[in-house]
Amino acid sequence: MSSTATDHEAIAVRAGRELEEATAQEVLRWAADTFGARFCVTSSMEDAVVAHLASSVFPGVDVVFLDTGYHFPETLGTRDAVAATMPVNVITLTPLRTVAEQDAEHGPALHDRDPDLCCSLRKVEPLNRGLAGYDAWATGLRRDESPTRANTPVVSWDPKRRKVKIAPIARWTQEDVDAYVAAHGVLLNPLLWEGYTSIGCSPLSCTRKPGEGEDARAGRWSGSGKTECGIHL
Ligand code: SF4
Repeated sequence: MSSTATDHEAIAVRAGRELEEATAQEVLRWAADTFGARFCVTSSMEDAVVAHLASSVFPGVDVVFLDTGYHFPETLGTRDAVAATMPVNVITLTPLRTVAEQDAEHGPALHDRDPDLCCSLRKVEPLNRGLAGYDAWATGLRRDESPTRANTPVVSWDPKRRKVKIAPIARWTQEDVDAYVAAHGVLLNPLLWEGYTSIGCSPLSCTRKPGEGEDARAGRWSGSGKTECGIHL
């Protein structure tokens, strides 16, 4: 008998309790054993840390990337390098409309006027569509990234999408990430060397370098009051 969303919700709640202290590899091993090919990793291609961790326990794992049409060339290059060099299956999701089609429908630079709508069209809808074939998805969310992410569970139920949501490195610090990258030679987006600490779409209203003393995500939709694209809300 196939398992249902209700089963998955119960699995998520129990795993959220039992895996809180588990290592990232243990969490990902559990996800691979529980969901198999119906488990994927999503990546913004800021780095390949979670993709690397997942591929170490589940070679060939699907790594889902949202190509909004507004990415920095360095981000697309990181995506291509991950696909070429790692034992993962990179899947690129695209919005229903090109940037030109969106401009024709909503006017140019929607990101400057209504970033919530722009993110909804170019990130949230494609992800929801892309996750339809999975029961569980992993993200690189970390509690130390920003106050809004401080309570990120390691495993939880994503009620909007009715999927199990996994944040295997939720408890990691930036130092943990740096140590893992150094130990395993993990691919990084080259913009990290230019002072960016959180890399989203390229319009300045969406991604800027943070100032001295600001948290890692302070440069995202800076000044707009928006802190998340909607994927993690
Ligand atoms: S981050 Fe900016 S450009 Fe990208 S989808 Fe959101 S509002 Fe649009």
